[in-house]
Amino acid sequence: MRSVSEPVVDDVDPGTVPTRLDAGSTNAIGRMLGLLGDEWTLLILQRALRGTTRYGQFLDEVAISNAVLTSRLATMEREGLLRRVVYQERPVRAEYVLTQRGRGLWPVTIAIWDWERRWVPRHAATLPAMRHALCGQNFAPVLTCTSCREVVRSGDVHAEWGPSGSWERSVPESTTRRRSDPRVDRTSAGLFPETMAIFGNRWSSALIGASLRGLTRFGDFEEALGAPPSLVAERLRAFCDIGVLEARGRRTSGADGRAEYHLTDKGHAFYPVVAVAIDWAQHWYAAEEGPALVQRHVPCGAALAVALACDQCSADLHGSDIEVVPRAHRRSDR
Ligand SMILES: [Zn+2]
Ligand SMILES: [Zn+2]
Repeated sequence: MRSVSEPVVDDVDPGTVPTRLDAGSTNAIGRMLGLLGDEWTLLILQRALRGTTRYGQFLDEVAISNAVLTSRLATMEREGLLRRVVYQERPVRAEYVLTQRGRGLWPVTIAIWDWERRWVPRHAATLPAMRHALCGQNFAPVLTCTSCREVVRSGDVHAEWGPSGSWERSVPESTTRRRSDPRVDRTSAGLFPETMAIFGNRWSSALIGASLRGLTRFGDFEEALGAPPSLVAERLRAFCDIGVLEARGRRTSGADGRAEYHLTDKGHAFYPVVAVAIDWAQHWYAAEEGPALVQRHVPCGAALAVALACDQCSADLHGSDIEVVPRAHRRSDR
C-alpha cells in the first residue's frame, strides 16, 4: 500500500489520454513533426498498423538495425504510440501493440502512400495497392470535410494561428540525430526520400506550411520562419528540385528577393498528409492556452474536421477496413 508521504505517480496513459502541453512550449504541430519527421518511426508505424507486433518481425520487415529499432520503439512507447506487452516470462518476450493514439495515425500513412505513388515516379510501380474491404475496390483516399462531406483542398481552408500557434512554436526542438545534409543522413531508411524531404526536417515542414498559407517571397519565408537566409535558400532550392515548388519571376542568384516560390500541383497534392497529421496532432496534444491552428472549411463555414473517404464508394475509410493488395496478385496489371 502506498503511504501518504509517497509521491503520487502520474499514471495517465498517453496511449488513450491526450498529452497536456505546458504554456509557452512547443505546440501540437511541433510535437507531431518531431515525432513523425523520422522515416524509421513512420516505417515501424506502417508495419504496426498492418499487424506486426514482435521485435524480430520489425527487424526483418523494416530492414532496420537493432540499435535504431530499439531506440525508435522506446520513443514510440514513451510518446504513447505503442504499448509494450510481455507475453512470455522466461525468457522475457514482449510485443509492441499500438495504442489508440498510435492507431489514430493510419490516415497519415495512407495519405503518404497515396502521394508517393502518384507523384514520386520510382514509387508508382513499387507501392502496393490498397483495397477498401467495405466495397471491395482498390481505392485512393479523398480528404473530405466531415461537416459538408465535400472534398477539401488547401485553398478551401482558412487557417489562422490559435493561442498556442506561431511559427516558432510549430517547429520541433532540434535534435542532435538530425543532420542537415540528407546525403550523409544514416538515420534515414531512404524509402520515402521525398516525403522525408518535406516532413523530416524542422525547417522544411514549416516552409511547406508557409507555402500552403500563401507565402511566396523569399523575405517572407525568412521572416516567418526566423531561419537563416542560407538555410531558406537551400530548402527552397531542394523543393524546386523535387518539383514541390516552382520559382517564378526574376531570379538572379542564390537568395533572390525577387523570385516567388509557388506550390506546384505536386506540392498542393501533399496537403492531405499535412491536414490529417495536424488533425491528429491537435487531438492528441492539448496546449494549456488553446489550439495551435484554428481552421475553417470556407465553402461550408464549419470548423475544419477532416476524414479520408474512399474514392470508389464515398464511405469514410477506417483503418481496419484497409487491406494491402500483395503485388504478386497484380501480375495481370503489368
Ligand atoms: Zn465543409
Ligand atoms: Zn470503398
